[in-house]
Amino acid sequence: AQALGVNRSTVVTAMEELAAIGLVEGRGSGGTRIASDTWSVLLSGAAPDWGRYIRSGSFQANQPTVQTINRLEFEDYVRLGTGELSPALFPEEMMRRVLEKLARRTPPLHYLEPLGLPELRHVLSERLADQGITAPPSGILITSGSLQGLQLISVGILSPSSRVFTEAPTYLKSLQVFQSAGMSITGIPMDGEGLLYRELERYQKAPGKNSENQLLYTIPSYQNPTGTLMSEERRAGLFEFCQKNRLPVIEDNAYSELWLDSPPPASLKARDKSGMVLSLGTLSKTLAPGLRIGWIAGPESVVRRLGDIKMQTDYGASSLSQWAAAEFLTSGLYDTYLHGLRKELRKRRAAALRVLADYFKGLADWNVPEGGFYVWLRFKSSLSIDRLFKKALEHRILLNPGSIYDFSPNHALRISYAYEPPEAFRKAMKTLADLGRGLDSL
Ligand code: PMP
Repeated sequence: AQALGVNRSTVVTAMEELAAIGLVEGRGSGGTRIASDTWSVLLSGAAPDWGRYIRSGSFQANQPTVQTINRLEFEDYVRLGTGELSPALFPEEMMRRVLEKLARRTPPLHYLEPLGLPELRHVLSERLADQGITAPPSGILITSGSLQGLQLISVGILSPSSRVFTEAPTYLKSLQVFQSAGMSITGIPMDGEGLLYRELERYQKAPGKNSENQLLYTIPSYQNPTGTLMSEERRAGLFEFCQKNRLPVIEDNAYSELWLDSPPPASLKARDKSGMVLSLGTLSKTLAPGLRIGWIAGPESVVRRLGDIKMQTDYGASSLSQWAAAEFLTSGLYDTYLHGLRKELRKRRAAALRVLADYFKGLADWNVPEGGFYVWLRFKSSLSIDRLFKKALEHRILLNPGSIYDFSPNHALRISYAYEPPEAFRKAMKTLADLGRGLDSL
């Protein structure tokens, strides 16, 4: 940097940007090197300039921190923020039984119809009815995880001039999906009861509001990343507000079955008689993210449109996964398993709250989640989460900094009690608190 006469942070930022799109590779303490295929471009005039192609793709690169997390999750780190169940909590034995039963039938090796396996849509329709949601199988589209549902929505019914309102902070991949599609995303603040929907009023009154498709994306139950449960009163008010302003809603119910104390208040979709809510569901947080099974329930016209795009995209989610999911749900095993899972998560939550009380008093604030996986740990504003992230890596601890979920800087971490077993969680959290106190006193 000195030789070039530029400031060091400019070089670091430039390197991070080059690394984010794969032109250079970080080598940990070994510094940064030019990626091997970038060398081949430099050395031989004949190779295509992939760098130029890579930079022109329409998807944005993940932030460097997110790329680091995605990479290190598969190395030997204690993962304090991972949004996934511990491998020990997956119902391996039940799944083995389901797969053995399926293996005795003719395996479904063919393509499936555009909306997905009828048996799976049927059982989902019944389960949704139990939650007060009217969704016939013809109004349900099976997707490859609910993230694909968001992707289909962003290319199927929105355009780059659309505006998506979300909670601030929110699930990071939903932000990326919408951002890559060119939409403007507006974060709406929350309190302990969820989204402060009155803040949406000023956008509804903005001139020319009808010239763009606006939509609200919300995670009312055990929100990612804050763990917040939207209260009954807030849900009722939000629903009425959206109805009055004809503002469609994507309701992401990824965690709603993971209630720990009592079931969450009725979903927005359960209140919906006019078809203004698209409800997203997934088996990733409860059963197995590797199945890649999610769904969208909504008005048939929208579901058919998204199903048509899905046929253009991947011609359907894996038929084997759909069969396994349908069998798991219809066999009754799923409910037995969920019952046991809640019990285990309740224990882990209690252990996590004890750890927080033991080590984090005076250093940070946190919420007590009523379900799902997450505690939103807010440090004092003098502490640099970026430095904490790097320091923790030196101790083989991987963190999910709050900034990757937010629109403006924050001083929070997303902590999950679902991934690490309680003993490993306690040990790593103690180290984290020590590191936090060290940085705080600098
Ligand atoms: N929505 C939310 C709120 C999530 O937290 C996740 C997973 N982290 C998803 C959707 C996506 O899950 P999948 O694509 O695996 O169904």
